[in-house]
Amino acid sequence: MRGLCYCRTCQAISGGAGNLFMAVDTKSFQFTRGTPRSFNKNDRPGSPTRHFCEACGVHLTARSERAPSAVLIKVGTLDNPSVFEGPELVTWTSEMQKFHLLPRDVPAHLEFPRPKGSDRRATEVPSSGATNAS
Ligand SMILES: [Zn+2]
Repeated sequence: MRGLCYCRTCQAISGGAGNLFMAVDTKSFQFTRGTPRSFNKNDRPGSPTRHFCEACGVHLTARSERAPSAVLIKVGTLDNPSVFEGPELVTWTSEMQKFHLLPRDVPAHLEFPRPKGSDRRATEVPSSGATNAS
């Protein structure tokens, strides 16, 4: 899964824009060098634990109980970010700013969508609606 997140924390971390991420299975991911620092803002149920490089502070990955089998890798940290090929979904449009843009023809969700079969349905925004949070 390839995504773009507009939650307020991602806005703060990115300098005001959204945050591009790529979800991979936890079983196929490991840090090969160093031990990242972990941080969880705990500002809402299911808030992700974020991992940062202990040497330079860059945001590397995130894990959320909303998607327990996935590691969300920050695209800008990839050796070759071109493998990303653009987002397949947008998350947390409820926290977007007026100057943020939605990619055309990509499903947009008010929050982070829950996996199929979970106790709550994703709150999906029609692609023709919600160009900002106002
Ligand atoms: Zn976010």
